[in-house]
Amino acid sequence: MINLSGKNAIVTGSSRGIGKAIAIKLASLGANVAVVYAGNREKADETVAEIEQLGVKAKAYSCDVSSMNDAKNLVTEVIADFGGVDILVNNAGIVKDGLILSMKEEHFDSVINVNLKGTFNMIKSTYQHFMKKRSGRIVNISSIIGINGNAGQANYASAKAGIIGLTKSAAKELAARKVTVNAVAPGFIETDMTAAMPEKAKEAALAAIPMKRVGAGEDIANAVAFLVSDEASYITGEVLKVDGGMAI
Ligand code: NAD
Repeated sequence: MINLSGKNAIVTGSSRGIGKAIAIKLASLGANVAVVYAGNREKADETVAEIEQLGVKAKAYSCDVSSMNDAKNLVTEVIADFGGVDILVNNAGIVKDGLILSMKEEHFDSVINVNLKGTFNMIKSTYQHFMKKRSGRIVNISSIIGINGNAGQANYASAKAGIIGLTKSAAKELAARKVTVNAVAPGFIETDMTAAMPEKAKEAALAAIPMKRVGAGEDIANAVAFLVSDEASYITGEVLKVDGGMAI
C-alpha cells in the first residue's frame, strides 16, 4: 500500500483536470499538496477544500510556470509554508493546435514556453533543494503525442517530446542523489482540454484506443502515485504510457 504521509507535493496546473486528480490522489495517500494554478483562483480553492477534507494540508499558489521568476518564488514560498518539498509533479500544459502551414509563431512559442520551459523552470527551481535532501520524486506529464507526433499539433508534440529528453537528462543528473525523475505519457483523457476538441476528432481518438474507453484523470493519478512512492525508488528516466493501448 502506497503511503505518502508527511510528504509535501507541488502539483502544477492542479485547479482542474488531470492535475486536480493527481493532487487529490496524492492527498488521499497522505501527502500535503501545494495546488498551483494559472488563473482560476476559485477552482484552485475548491481543490484545496477537497484536499483539506482528507485531513492533510493544502494551499493554493498562483504561478505562471513559463516564468522562471514565478517558478523560483513559488518554490521559495512552498518551502517556507510546508517546510520542504518531496514531490514535484509538472502537469501544467496548454494546446494551441493548427497545421504547421498556418500555425502562428507565437502559438509555437507559447506552447513550448508553458509545457517544456515551464517543466524546466520548475525542475531548476527545486534542483538544489532535492540535491541537498538526497531524496525526491519528480514526475513530468508528457503525452503519447510527444512519442508518436500528431498532425495539427507540431508545437505540442515538440514540447511533449522535449519533456521526455528533459526527464531523461534530469534523471541522469539527479540519480546519485536518490532523486528519481520520470514521465507519464497520457493518451486520450476526458478533461476540459479534450472537451474543446471537435466531435470528429474525439470519435477518431476513441476509435484508436484498443481498450475502447476514454481515460479518466484518476488513471493518470494512479500511475503518478506509484512513481512518487517508495516502492518506485529504483525506477528513473522512465516514460510510462497510460493510454488504454492507444500508442501500441
Ligand atoms: P486542462 O486544460 O484541464 O488543465 C491544464 C492545467 O494547467 C490547468 O489547471 C491550467 O490552469 C494549468 N496551466 C495552464 N497554463 C499554465 C501556466 N502557464 N502556469 C501554470 N499552470 C498553467 O488540461 P488536462 O487535460 O488536465 O491536462 C493536464 C496535462 O496533461 C497537460 O500537461 C496536458 O498536456 C497533459 N495531457 C493531457 C491529455 C488529455 O487527453 N487530456 C493527454 C495527454 C497529456
